[in-house]
Amino acid sequence: MSIEVELPDGSKLEVEENATVEDVAYSIGTGLGDDTVAGKINGELVAKEENVSENDKIEIVTDQSEEYIDVLRHSAAHIFAQALKRLCPEAKLTIGPSTDEGFYYDIDNVELDKGDLEEIEKEMQNIVEEDLEIENKTLSREEAEDYYQDNKYKRDILEEEASEGDEISFYQQGEFKDLCKGPHVSSTGEVKAFKLLEIAGAYWRGDEENEMLTRVYGTALPSESKLEDFLEKRREAEKRDHRKIGKEMNLFSIPDFSPGCAHFHPNGMTIRRELEDFIRSKNDKLGYTEVRTPELNKAELWKKTGHYDAFKEEGEMFAWEQDDTEWGLKPMNCANHSHIFKSKKRSYKELPVRLSEFGNVYRNEQSGELSGLLRVRGMTQDDGHAYIREDQIQEELERTFEIIQQMYEEFDFDITFKLETKPDKAQGPDELWEKAEDSLESALKNKNANYDLNEGEGAFYGPKIGVMVEDAIGREWQLGTVQLDFVIPRNYGLTYVGEDNDEHYPVMVHRAILGSLDRFMGVMIEHFAGDFPTWLAPEQVRILPVSDDNLDYAEKVKEELGDIRVEIEDRSWTVGKKIQAAHDDKVPYMLILGDDEEEAGNISVRDREEREQKEVTLEKFKEQLSQEIENKELSQDFLS
Ligand SMILES: [Zn+2]
Ligand SMILES: [Zn+2]
Repeated sequence: MSIEVELPDGSKLEVEENATVEDVAYSIGTGLGDDTVAGKINGELVAKEENVSENDKIEIVTDQSEEYIDVLRHSAAHIFAQALKRLCPEAKLTIGPSTDEGFYYDIDNVELDKGDLEEIEKEMQNIVEEDLEIENKTLSREEAEDYYQDNKYKRDILEEEASEGDEISFYQQGEFKDLCKGPHVSSTGEVKAFKLLEIAGAYWRGDEENEMLTRVYGTALPSESKLEDFLEKRREAEKRDHRKIGKEMNLFSIPDFSPGCAHFHPNGMTIRRELEDFIRSKNDKLGYTEVRTPELNKAELWKKTGHYDAFKEEGEMFAWEQDDTEWGLKPMNCANHSHIFKSKKRSYKELPVRLSEFGNVYRNEQSGELSGLLRVRGMTQDDGHAYIREDQIQEELERTFEIIQQMYEEFDFDITFKLETKPDKAQGPDELWEKAEDSLESALKNKNANYDLNEGEGAFYGPKIGVMVEDAIGREWQLGTVQLDFVIPRNYGLTYVGEDNDEHYPVMVHRAILGSLDRFMGVMIEHFAGDFPTWLAPEQVRILPVSDDNLDYAEKVKEELGDIRVEIEDRSWTVGKKIQAAHDDKVPYMLILGDDEEEAGNISVRDREEREQKEVTLEKFKEQLSQEIENKELSQDFLS
């Protein structure tokens, strides 16, 4: 018997009924067969020994494929585990997957420090040099359970992920074997460039109720030079880490008692207010009016809109029972804004109705997923909803995209739009989905926007556009969003009276331009590495009196500078030390005021880039600096 499988170019290939991925590769060509590392069956990465079935879509993975890096990294995780077991036989292994950055392995029953990682790396190097063959081995369920009689984590995996069938897949290299469905590279010698990076803690299965395990992060790359590049980029990212800069500049904190919810300190709040003012000015231009809606609502609100099913079931919503009522913290602002739309009778003439809010929303992210301002539980979205007629869709979307393009330019971000289409949990009729997707795509085309398609990732109520941002060191982040929705108006009974005197459903545009202000600030801090453009800097100018005698003049100059954010350095330090402190605090401009300046009634200006100019008149400085702030200049103009 033979079966037919489909190849990436759409062509069909006939193979034996029990053929493996490797067999498929060999029937395409001997060279490809020899090079096969693994395969993909219907998009899922599998071992080359995996059997294919009728009509499967098959891709062959070689060391030239994009997926190869994941295979290599997972093999590096096994080498780590083998080295660890050689050095600490009592260690209990749990899971060790590959990640976007490398791999990790979670282990129990060991205590490790940085020095131990070096020892383990040396042993990993030995294993690489031993060039052990990595082989797929099958154990019976009984043998597997027996093998792990002292390891409840692996037994748990046997009961959960590997609960089906009696044949359990293991991978063996030398004396070491691990419960694993693969795939792997063919020998340990293939993993040439690797590095262990850090030790962290992680709960078993990501659940706080479970044991805290030791997580070791590492990475592997196809060559030493690629590893060096990776490590260099990582060092640069560490320097820019918003959590570190946030602490140094006293911008925000996330204490243990509010995990995932940030406190913005005065410096951080100054930046946030600048962002809010900027957003408000753009919302005014777009015709939005600002509203304020409550965080705390009865859960029945989201049952009407459909959010309850989408959020509550997946544990993403904070909800609880009190006084026989189910309450929730709002995960989105849509429902509350829709209530405002519904609060009076609407006519076709007043559409679009546009409502905006700095809306505080809460999502129950797992504690292990939280990361500074980038992944939080409580956030403020620069949210807005436009209720429009169908004939207004195109114009509304184009105006929104245009404002988004303009706004991100002010931060020197390169943006790409990501169009996410109909997901499995979609509600509403197919033709509305098609219409919504078409409208978004043609608006993007009309605005000459760069965009990628991401099928199946939309919201339950409509297709989504994600604003993808590339930062100063080439990392990509998702920030803003624009979504078109034909479903919530129907679920929630929103209508307007049309020209024909009949009731019609409006179309809803959901949009958050910078997205979550918290996340935006996290990304922005890393993008600028704390060297904010002057309009955003919490302290724009620091006055450095040469001696205490010049303090009165310093006060006078500060007063002259009016609205500009100025501080006076009044510690009795040398000028050199004062300059250093201002540099450390990333203040854009320093004014150095000594007896010469005081007598002449002028100032000496120094900027963050260490450029300097003496005998400057205060008026000229004030005028140019005000311009720089007003125009939201990215670079410091005065001394350039
Ligand atoms: Zn494995
Ligand atoms: Zn919304």
